[in-house]
Parts: sequence; C-alpha cells; structure tokens
Amino acid sequence: MTEGETRMTIGTDIRTWFEGEWHDGNPPILGAADHATWLGSLIFDGARAFGGVAPDLDRHCARTVASARAMGMEPPMDADGVLAIAKEGIALYPEDAELYIRPMMWARDSAANLISPAAESCAFALCIEAMPLPPMGAIALTVSPFRRPRPDTALTEAKAACLYPNNGRMLTEARSRGFDNALSLDDWDHVAETATSNVFLVRDGVVRTPRPNGTFLNGITRQRVMVLLAEDGMTVEEASLTTADFANADEIFLTGNAAKVTAVKRFEDREMQPGPVAKRARELYWHWAGAPAEA
Ligand code: PMP
Repeated sequence: MTEGETRMTIGTDIRTWFEGEWHDGNPPILGAADHATWLGSLIFDGARAFGGVAPDLDRHCARTVASARAMGMEPPMDADGVLAIAKEGIALYPEDAELYIRPMMWARDSAANLISPAAESCAFALCIEAMPLPPMGAIALTVSPFRRPRPDTALTEAKAACLYPNNGRMLTEARSRGFDNALSLDDWDHVAETATSNVFLVRDGVVRTPRPNGTFLNGITRQRVMVLLAEDGMTVEEASLTTADFANADEIFLTGNAAKVTAVKRFEDREMQPGPVAKRARELYWHWAGAPAEA
C-alpha cells in the first residue's frame, strides 16, 4: 500500500474497532472457518490523517461500503456509520498524528452454494496505525510483466484484498531488478496503474493519466489531483496510454492514499528530473486538504 517508497515505517500504535469497541493493537478478527479466511471475501479501504486533517475520509468510507456490495455482501453499516467510527478512532490519537485508517468488511459465512459469501454475514472492523506520511519520493519505475485482470476475470470493481497478491508479486519482481515500483498493463496493452498507485505523465505541458476502464482503481487521490491541477490552469486529460507514452514523458508522478503525490526519477534506464508538476500537485493537495504546508 505504499506508493512506491522503497521503505516505509510499518505502522505502530495500532487501535482496532471491532464488535462495538476499541482494542489496542492487533486483535484477532477472523475465525478459522470464516468465509473470508478460506475464500478471500475481505475488502478494505485506506485513508490518511495528517496535520490535523483527514482528506476525503468520507469518500474512502463510501468506497468501503461500495466494495462490500460489489463483493456480494450487505454492509452492516452505511458510509456515515463507517465515517463516525473512523473519526472516533482518529480522536484517540494526538491531533497532528500521521495515521493510516483502514476500514475492512468481510463475510463470515458461505451462501448455500458454499463458495459465494452469505451477504448478511458481513462483518466490519476498522484498524488505525500510526504511520508517517513519506516525503516527496524519487521513484525508480519499470514495467511489470504482470497485468491487471479484466473486470470479467477478477472482481476489480471492489478494493478487494484478493487482488493484492498480484500487486505484491509486481513489487517483488520490480525490486529484484532494482526498481521501486512498476507500471501494470491491462489486457489491451494500455498502462493501467502501478502496483500501489495511480499514475500520471506530463508531456509538453499537458497532464495525462490512464482512462478508467474497469481494470484498475479510479483512485480517490487521482480524482482529487486531476481537479486541483485543472483548477490551477493545467490541461488534464484521461487517455489510453502506452508504455511508449511514459518513455517519452517529460515527467511522471504517482498518486495514492498512502503518500498522496510522489515523483518518478527514473523510468527504466532513463533518468528524469522529479518534476515541477508533481511538486505543484502535492502543494495543491496539502493546501486543499487544509494541512500545514510542507517545509
Ligand atoms: N491503485 C492501487 C493498486 C492502490 O492500492 C491504490 C491505493 N489505495 C491506488 C491505486 C490509489 O487509490 P486511492 O487514491 O483511492 O487511495
């Protein structure tokens, strides 16, 4: 869930809301026979709090509920219910704490056919960890040999845990070749995203990012950054992009919840200046969020 940082402090000071109360640390939430344990129905979302703000927290809560429904489960609470618990949890920490907020839903029981989740058995937990927001990165980016699944080959509509082993092997493989992160292609050879984030390029002053086609997460940070850059006067386009477009880019940057906006310094064997648009997007994001400007 990092946006390509080579290292990121693993969360500390964990608090988890489960079955009506807050637990310190990492309490067990799954049973050995739970549907999610053996058949992978867990969905999650990730939000951030830093500098006294929690940008787009409501949208991350809404996506949690939408992912659960896409997985065929009936969420035990609506987005406002998730949001209220998230805010309650954030208030347990110091006001300027840098937090990773992860609501999760999963099925406990199987439907009569054994394999589908029993919709009404949907459980919920929300886990918060203290996790510093990484500074602007300088990512070495490659192209992964592994692809994003199509919407008809995996449940890409949900932010589902079962999609992430594919992203995990993308990262492992990229790192074995000395890169921090990798572009994943869709089935039609268009760039989808990276293993952990959405991706943007800048060429001749125009900002472009892959057009959502159901194969990758249309990220909340991505959508926010597109609006902020457009309002700032830049031309921002969604397009079908190939690796050649990235090879010829003046600038590449990544967006995602964990690091927000982070810059690419190398694509394959080409060094690139971590660019001004990434820097501007990060500044705009901090300003919009109401967080203190970075030093
Ligand atoms: N793609 C993947 C694979 C991700 O894990 C993330 C981070 N959640 C994103 C994109 C960015 O999504 P968002 O901005 O909504 O966090």
